[in-house]
Amino acid sequence: MGNNNNGHKRTPFAHQMEAFDALNKTFPVRVSGYKGSLLVLPTAGGKTFTATNWICRLILHHNIKVLWLAQSSYLLDQATKSFIQESSNILHTRKTLNIRTVSSNTSHANSGSIELSDDIVIVTTQTAISDALNETTGFKGERQTFKLRQWIENCAESELFVVLDEAHHAPAYGCRTLLTEIRKIIDNIYILGLTATPTHNDQRIRGWLDKIFDRGICYQADINDLYKNNVLARPKYINKPTGRDMDVDDKLYDRIVTQHKDLPENIIEILANDSARNNYIVSDYINNKMEYGKTLIFADRWVQCEYIVEKLRENGVRADCVYSMSSGKKVPSIDGVGRRDNKQNELALKEFRAGNLDVLVNVKMLTEGVDVPDIKTVMITRNTTSGILFTQMIGRALRGKKAGGGEDKDTANIVLFVDNWKRLLPFANISDTTGDSEDVPKVKRGVPPLEWVSILLVKRACKDIEFIGKENLPCKYYMPIGWYETEYVVSIENDDGEEMLTASDSNMVYETNNGSFKRLMDFLIEYDLPEFFASERISSEKIIGDIIPQINNIFNFEEDDVDGNLKRSIINITRHIAQNGTIPEFIPFEIRDQYDIDRLPEKHAMLNSPQRMAQLRSDYEDSRLLWSKLYKKLEMFIQAYNDAEWRKYCNSEPEPISEEEIIEDNRRSTEDYRLALLSRDNKKCRCCGRELGKGIKLEIDHIVPVKMGGQTTLENLQILCKTCNMEKGVQLISFLNNKTQVVEPMSFKLIRSNSSESVECSVTRIINFFYRANAVCSIRYNQRSSGRYYSKWLIQLHEGNPINWLQLQAYRKDLLKYIQDELGWRHVYDIEIATI
Ligand SMILES: [Zn+2]
Repeated sequence: MGNNNNGHKRTPFAHQMEAFDALNKTFPVRVSGYKGSLLVLPTAGGKTFTATNWICRLILHHNIKVLWLAQSSYLLDQATKSFIQESSNILHTRKTLNIRTVSSNTSHANSGSIELSDDIVIVTTQTAISDALNETTGFKGERQTFKLRQWIENCAESELFVVLDEAHHAPAYGCRTLLTEIRKIIDNIYILGLTATPTHNDQRIRGWLDKIFDRGICYQADINDLYKNNVLARPKYINKPTGRDMDVDDKLYDRIVTQHKDLPENIIEILANDSARNNYIVSDYINNKMEYGKTLIFADRWVQCEYIVEKLRENGVRADCVYSMSSGKKVPSIDGVGRRDNKQNELALKEFRAGNLDVLVNVKMLTEGVDVPDIKTVMITRNTTSGILFTQMIGRALRGKKAGGGEDKDTANIVLFVDNWKRLLPFANISDTTGDSEDVPKVKRGVPPLEWVSILLVKRACKDIEFIGKENLPCKYYMPIGWYETEYVVSIENDDGEEMLTASDSNMVYETNNGSFKRLMDFLIEYDLPEFFASERISSEKIIGDIIPQINNIFNFEEDDVDGNLKRSIINITRHIAQNGTIPEFIPFEIRDQYDIDRLPEKHAMLNSPQRMAQLRSDYEDSRLLWSKLYKKLEMFIQAYNDAEWRKYCNSEPEPISEEEIIEDNRRSTEDYRLALLSRDNKKCRCCGRELGKGIKLEIDHIVPVKMGGQTTLENLQILCKTCNMEKGVQLISFLNNKTQVVEPMSFKLIRSNSSESVECSVTRIINFFYRANAVCSIRYNQRSSGRYYSKWLIQLHEGNPINWLQLQAYRKDLLKYIQDELGWRHVYDIEIATI
């Protein structure tokens, strides 16, 4: 046992003194019988200090043994450090104190090393569950137990004081089974639960909390009092988008969403080594230097620390860093780069504490234990799914004026650098960590996580969903009617050790599968789920393997899997019911009808085409409406609208016809029409110019759809290829015109074609749709001898099409980039636009 606090004795705050009184009253020593109670203190309110200080004075003083259960390796270390500090100050009656810190992490002791003489065993809940609840059979058939179990059984004759950190997890299956088992072994036992968030909405979970903590809450500090009394600084949360696009492939998605693990090392590595990103972090500090004040930056790699420090120093900032050899997975080089010994770290920390440094950059060293109360700003350089880690980082800045935070510290800045993840990931956020209800942007109740809904609608608008036979389903089909909020506790092994965390998810329910979900709930409640379903460690494969065969008659897995998440929802719901014993709460999507795009065409019945476009545009741009959140681009919204209009006025999509069909099919119009059309339009798509040929289908398009009153006359018919006809939808565009019919430019859309058509066709289509007419006269791109059109193309438009529309810098740039990157003409460097 060491003594690393240099004899400094920490003075408790008023709320901690009050907590001591409450603990004295609730847990009188000696321990006799069972008592359980909760101590509720907000993040940075000194939970660990309060508990360890009191235990050292009252419990250890009486030689009562202590079992400290924590949910993660971080919390384990925090408790150990705190015991070492407090015990050295307070214990006068004892000469020795044996503390053992146990987890599956290699930095801690192995559970086999526990000795019966240990006074304090600090262990992760996961390890405790497996070691205390399981036993094996020896060679002679005798019962064999693990060391932790033996240690607990050894307390049976005397007394035991149990502390459960993050006690809101107590009702989780493994944890409550562990506590129940310990109570069976020991009669005289106290259980103290520590938490920042003591309440639970679910009655059943509340029930378990009440059972374990039968004396209720012994003391709860009001966070607002702590702000008011300047014990805590009020946090100001600042999100900084880095602009870095991060793809989320299925593997990563599965790791984070289904397995609940944190970002993998290879991705952390990518982010940590992104110098543009690191420069942004540095410049954010420089730009806000005055406001940020004394700043602690959490980084991920020693190289990143050194880089940030170097850049800060170049800008005249007094900066240094601390990290350990294990701070980056890459071993530092032999020449000493990346090597930092404890002395260097201590010196940097001392300078930072003394105010001789403005910024200290670290890799997970200052998440706990090390205390620099006057830190004004914490910069967290990336998202994490670990709520505990996230809370620890935030906590570093929350010391108020009275707690050494410094005279001008009214608020603490929490700056979080957020990357642009391409799918919705359940990163830790403020609301589920600090227990602080203010300043936290909340998801509006009744509005689902819009990304879920949006993905489907956007895919629908892009015709990217290949549900056979479902092409004509209304958009509402893809709009959930509500969702089940599931919540359960999972045990995960991350690269930094083990952690228990609460997994929350929103499970979308659609009109089609609503009934199936209800039957699933009935089945799961009726069916006596085997105990192991409630385990925090059960794998998704195990659940799927056991449950799916039994619910084959409940779900039609093809029909019911609207969004591709059906299996995940089944896993979530099964785990929720197994652990909590209640069905998850259903939250209806209340404003769903407002966003049923199939209702819009009717609403717009009195408007003419330009007025509709104007209305759609203004609806889309109205920030009070959700359209722009549901459809990522205005074009997609208009496309979806056109599809809706089509569904309303037409029974089916236009049928593709081949040349033979054009001649043979007499159902729709006379052969004369077809021949006349083919002749008039030169067997070519009227828009892009693709010719009828092998594998290319042309379609006859009614310029004004029949259901909107369009006639089958030559003037109202045009031949289009499939791509152009899809793009046109029910928009009223006549490619018989060479001159644009609109008075101001529409938004410019790069229409992508996956077929192997000529570059001329692709570019012509894009421009013609932009002008909503057959505006392109010629595209000169292929004349190589003089080099005149080879690298600088010439696009000629028919007279009457304003060339300045297309000459807009942004449009030309987009088009050029498209020609270079997607059509493969990399040597093209400019486009000239002219009229003939
Ligand atoms: Zn075409």
